[in-house]
Amino acid sequence: MAVVLRDVGQYIQGAGELDNLGKFVKKLGNKFLLICSEHNKSRIGDRVEAALASVEKEVVYSEFYNQCTMEAIDTAVAHGTEAGCDVIIGAGGGTAIDTAKAVATLMGGIPCVILPTIASNDAPCAGLSVVYNEEGVVVKVINMLRNPDVVLVDTGIIAQAPKSYLVSGIGDALATYFEARACWRTGARTMARGNCSHTSLTMAKLCYDLLLGHSVKALAAVENKEVNEDLENVVEASIFLSGFGAICGGLAAAHAVNDGLGAIPQIHANGTSHGEKVAFGLLVQLILEKAPQEEWDTVLRFMQTVGLPTTLAELGFKDFVEADLRRAAKIAASPKEFTKNVRADITADEVYDAILAADKAGARQ
Ligand SMILES: [Zn+2]
Repeated sequence: MAVVLRDVGQYIQGAGELDNLGKFVKKLGNKFLLICSEHNKSRIGDRVEAALASVEKEVVYSEFYNQCTMEAIDTAVAHGTEAGCDVIIGAGGGTAIDTAKAVATLMGGIPCVILPTIASNDAPCAGLSVVYNEEGVVVKVINMLRNPDVVLVDTGIIAQAPKSYLVSGIGDALATYFEARACWRTGARTMARGNCSHTSLTMAKLCYDLLLGHSVKALAAVENKEVNEDLENVVEASIFLSGFGAICGGLAAAHAVNDGLGAIPQIHANGTSHGEKVAFGLLVQLILEKAPQEEWDTVLRFMQTVGLPTTLAELGFKDFVEADLRRAAKIAASPKEFTKNVRADITADEVYDAILAADKAGARQ
């Protein structure tokens, strides 16, 4: 199989960059449909409008209620079509971004601009949308014709968001290197429809190194609502490198276990984030891989230092229900999942045992 790389058209990151949006998007079209929540509209709507007005572009606002459902997507498509919009902007966290990507795709692959207001997951740079139903269950994945044309991250805005979002983003990004490495070892096919390349593996390793080296100081910066070099480094890892890695490096057991854990009612009701589940899934993957003790110790210590959950109870699974955990393991080990990218013949029982082993070893001393 060939190696395949696909990436965003332009990636811009820096404090105050939102005000420069116009110069990066002026050639994309003339009428922009802005999909974001009322909350984010009040946070950044005026600045988006002013930046686009400076290059004589018009903005139409499309209301969004924080759920990436087919209904939300269809509503925005109808709105954008009726208003004659030729570019889509998604601003916010994962759901507004995923909705915008789906809308741009369903409107014939028109240009798509992403403005993340939090750094909680790898959605901004990934060329796909995960669509949910009202109950929060994944119903489908819409693949974009190409990755977003512009991803602009104003770190001044990221620094104003609650710290827990960045912790989640760090959790999602922490698995990037190990998942790419698993795909590299087994020759698994990535979502870019090729093998993991030297480039993807190296970028995934860079992602891991930036997180280990800078997360503590980045989180301190966010606590003070300030931007520093450490925050810039961690945002580059959690938004750019993590998204690139998910598509071109490949996913493995960490994300598959996330999908399984999401089906446990107690964890779903707890509101445990994607990044928190992925990070715990990474512990499970390291057990499945029989990773060296030193590597395990580094990852566990790091997770505990930045405040990521390392036990089932910390994920919200406080009352142990064996059937729920068996179902989660079964989902993670199903043939369409990414656990097979660690080893093709991993069974649900093995995943179940690995989850329990991770939970036990993850307990704080
Ligand atoms: Zn992820």
